[in-house]
Amino acid sequence: MNDPALKFELLKHDGSTGARLGRVTTRHGSFDTPAFMPVGTQGTVKGILPDHIAATGSQIILGNTYHLMLRPGEKVVAELGDLHRFMAWPGPILTDSGGFQVFSLADINKISDDGVTFKSHIDGSTVELTPQRSMEIQNALGADIIMAFDECPDPNKPREYQQQAVDRTLRWAQLCIEAHGRANDQSLFGIVQGGVDRALREHCAAELIKLKLPGYAIGGLAVGEGFEAMKQVLDYTAPILPDDKPRYLMGVGFPRDIVQAVSAGVDMFDCVMPTGNGRNAYAFTVQGAIRLRNSQYTRDIGPIEAGCDCYACQNFTRGAIRHFFFAGEMLGPILASVHNIRFYQRLMSDLRRAISSGSLAEFRRVDPRCRLGPRDVPQAPQAFAGTADETTQQEPS
Ligand SMILES: [Zn+2]
Repeated sequence: MNDPALKFELLKHDGSTGARLGRVTTRHGSFDTPAFMPVGTQGTVKGILPDHIAATGSQIILGNTYHLMLRPGEKVVAELGDLHRFMAWPGPILTDSGGFQVFSLADINKISDDGVTFKSHIDGSTVELTPQRSMEIQNALGADIIMAFDECPDPNKPREYQQQAVDRTLRWAQLCIEAHGRANDQSLFGIVQGGVDRALREHCAAELIKLKLPGYAIGGLAVGEGFEAMKQVLDYTAPILPDDKPRYLMGVGFPRDIVQAVSAGVDMFDCVMPTGNGRNAYAFTVQGAIRLRNSQYTRDIGPIEAGCDCYACQNFTRGAIRHFFFAGEMLGPILASVHNIRFYQRLMSDLRRAISSGSLAEFRRVDPRCRLGPRDVPQAPQAFAGTADETTQQEPS
């Protein structure tokens, strides 16, 4: 018997919440859970050298199927080695299915039971994404964890539509399993949809669990449903997923949301917020995001955040970084992104330590990071996902 493509060690359950401490091992190494994955949209975590990503404590990163299939194309990535070689990231990688970007960004022509037809934002050509095609692309890219192609509907659509999206998501998950050509070294995760409808979520989870996949994700949250609704969905969805498999909450989010989800029993996260905010000169601190362009920092000799051990805070003053943003120097967005990713990774390691020592409830009560939400961080994640090509965002040039 070969080693499985993914091994999940559940090291500890928290006594007073649903939180878990664990470790996931893939063919490209291990990562500790709860884990945060920086997002590498176009085959790169924007502006950051892989060594510096690793130095933030990141152990796994995420790649976007949607962007890579359109440019340079998955065959080119495969010919150049695979996505690990392409990104010069030897550690674990997860790719999404492309579904979320198609549903949220693309100019969609048609959604059917077979898949989605949309217009490429690069050359206007018509592109089809189906469960089979998503697997073909993700098999070629070669990430350690790949995602089933799902339908992520607008949460404001009526219940019948949510039901139809769940039916499609379940049918497509089965088609993904059949089309998956590298089950020996890539682990396919299923995605629980169902909006904010408990019965739909439970039905979707129960049917996916029958497929005995190596991990499960919760999708369709942080799309405008609000914190209380997200909390409720997590509280009833996370505990019904298999205890011995990793659970991944897709695209979330604010520190507050991550802490809440960890407490509900979620193990993996990704979000563009640290890098997207960093490029826009917003830096995370315990008190909330600060705007590095503010005039009050012109002669500020302090680091972005006192006590932070990241490369930016160890080497640069707020005054210098502010200048870089105004001068259009690349180093401004780079340093702010490095700090923000490290901010997230420090939060994750502190959460892991709190679970390990049985003090998560106390940690949540006293640590102000656990409350950072949309009032403290000026831009929601949708602000960064809103354009198909992030490079069209206003950035210093
Ligand atoms: Zn820092």
